[in-house]
Amino acid sequence: MKPAPFSYVRPGSLADVLGELAAGDGKVLAGGQSLVPVLAMRLGRPGTLVDINSVAELDELTVSGSGSRAGEVLRVGATTRQRVLERSEEVRRVPLLGMALPFVGHRELRSRGTVCGSLAHADPAAELPAVACCLGAVLEIAAPSGHRRLSAAEFFAGAMTTAVGPDEVLVAAEFPVARAGEGFGFAEIARRHGDFALAGVVTRVVRDGDRVVTATLTGFGISDQPVTRDVAQLVQAGDGLPAALREGTAELAADLVDTAGDAHGSTGYRRRLFTVLAARELGRAYDSAGNDRAGNDRAGNDRAGS
Ligand SMILES: Cc1cc2nc3c(=O)[nH]c(=O)nc-3n(C[C@H](O)[C@H](O)[C@H](O)COP(=O)(O)OP(=O)(O)OC[C@H]3O[C@@H](n4cnc5c(N)ncnc54)[C@H](O)[C@@H]3O)c2cc1C
Repeated sequence: MKPAPFSYVRPGSLADVLGELAAGDGKVLAGGQSLVPVLAMRLGRPGTLVDINSVAELDELTVSGSGSRAGEVLRVGATTRQRVLERSEEVRRVPLLGMALPFVGHRELRSRGTVCGSLAHADPAAELPAVACCLGAVLEIAAPSGHRRLSAAEFFAGAMTTAVGPDEVLVAAEFPVARAGEGFGFAEIARRHGDFALAGVVTRVVRDGDRVVTATLTGFGISDQPVTRDVAQLVQAGDGLPAALREGTAELAADLVDTAGDAHGSTGYRRRLFTVLAARELGRAYDSAGNDRAGNDRAGNDRAGS
């Protein structure tokens, strides 16, 4: 199919982008990797595509000491490509991004697709929204009335639904930089490389010696949006050993996994995947948190990303 007719504008400033969106019936165009298929299938019919790629201030990739949490943050602007982040030096500062990005579609898609576009699109099976939730990333939104900052938990509102209004732009995402004592895990199962996950998990554990200070588990592809739970007690009780965590993650699977079964897998199958992946990746995060360095960059790959 072909898209329905639309106009196209490419403003040079954020103020002009907001002006175009305020006129009504406009849609932000970032990398186009999700929006263009939506248009081609006529699942959406915006009157005007507002291309943000000429707005210099949105092309940002910086580590700074600001942000709502103590410590440094990696700030990723709205036009930063997934591939640019993946290949950057900065990505090492947020190991979970480095672990997740190779699983976002294919390399060619990532060379156009943006980090913020993936967050704004909010596919329930997408990797980057889950990373944002697990890390408690902060999302900055520009509206005609000014800027506001939301936590990832406030930002995602349901399948393909976020707090970004039709006249607003997600200008940047801020991810906390890893510190000593933090460890991470990431894994997903997909039928083919580049497909969206049937089930996936992102984990973060903070340790002080043998004491688990914080343990966070986010599942994706298992509900209508990423789901996050505090699992510190579970990880502490199981000493971070996957076999000992299995019973607890099975209970979580029964509670959290509600995606209806389809041709690719039943709900029960997804629960089983979640149970195994969650126990394993919590164990991985626990182990790496015990290393005396900030985070880790070991990917929990069931298949190599490319
Ligand atoms: C074959 C294929 C496989 C894929 N596999 C995966 C996968 O495995 N995992 C995965 O996560 N993704 C996957 N994707 C999607 C890909 O990651 C997209 O790049 C991403 O979802 C959207 O980013 P984009 O920059 O292309 O956004 P666009 O397509 O330009 O926009 C997507 C949506 O977000 C809105 N939007 C974009 N940026 C902003 C902004 N700054 N402010 C407000 N609204 C905004 C747009 O208006 C639109 O509604 C796949 C895509 C394809 C075509």
